[in-house]
Amino acid sequence: MKVVGSIPEIRKILREIRLAGKTIGLVPTMGYLHAGHLSLIDEAKKHCDFVVISIFVNPTQFGPTEDLDKYPRDFKRDEKLAREHGVDLIFFPDAAEMYPKPFFTYVVTEQLSKTLCGASRPVHFRGVTTVVSKLFNIVQPDVAVFGQKDAQQAIIIRRMVGDLNFPVQVIVAPIVREADGLAMSSRNVYLSQEERRQAPIIFNALKSAKEFVSKGDRDASAIGKLIRRTIGGSPLAEIEYVEIVDPITLENVQNIERGTFVAVAVRFGKTRLIDNVVLID
Ligand code: AMP
Repeated sequence: MKVVGSIPEIRKILREIRLAGKTIGLVPTMGYLHAGHLSLIDEAKKHCDFVVISIFVNPTQFGPTEDLDKYPRDFKRDEKLAREHGVDLIFFPDAAEMYPKPFFTYVVTEQLSKTLCGASRPVHFRGVTTVVSKLFNIVQPDVAVFGQKDAQQAIIIRRMVGDLNFPVQVIVAPIVREADGLAMSSRNVYLSQEERRQAPIIFNALKSAKEFVSKGDRDASAIGKLIRRTIGGSPLAEIEYVEIVDPITLENVQNIERGTFVAVAVRFGKTRLIDNVVLID
């Protein structure tokens, strides 16, 4: 497994790979790998000959008061996990390599980046679409794999790839959860013991909403209230949003239909957790 920090160097290596007729898969990450990331690597391996993961804590997707500096990092551990998982190359650039000064160009997916997480994180998705565009241009993957955990991000990236004709196939892999249902996230390490104990309430609420829908309830407003009430049962949970939305426009729906999903953001102390489920698959 190679570890490469420089853009000219990764380009040179990948040119050879392409010349040898191999297909390339990319899994963009911010590191501090967990089983969710590893499932994306497995998915990429199913579709490609050569798997690249990027590990880059992307400064442009963090707001000024967010956790950029304290975002968990452990490159040695990530390197070991990636090697054990059959990754072929880790792209591990520093911020100066990705954002040489001056830097003036951003990619923005209008509309979709303003709702849900975009409402409280106004620069977040601009940072995501910009860095993912850069990674697509650097790696030129045949396939890129993202997680359903960040449902809005996956929808925005699909839209961007379609709108801007990036020649890459986007695959979205299912959410990997802890045994008690909490969606895996690098940020889960921020949770105190008590917060961690209460956090599975989020998935419990989403699961029971899905059960209600499967019994025939299609009223988004009633299902939204049910979810709020359930999560509200945890004294440490502070709901940022519960939205039941269309998977293409991310607009709120009144009636739940196939593909409609519920997305939530909930704070436990200083930690912001997100989760989602598709209500009718
Ligand atoms: P991150 O390192 O948090 O930026 O995540 C990198 C990629 O891993 C994104 O496409 C995420 O959606 C995906 N991911 C993060 N957590 C999970 C999870 N629990 N299950 C599946 N994919 C995940």
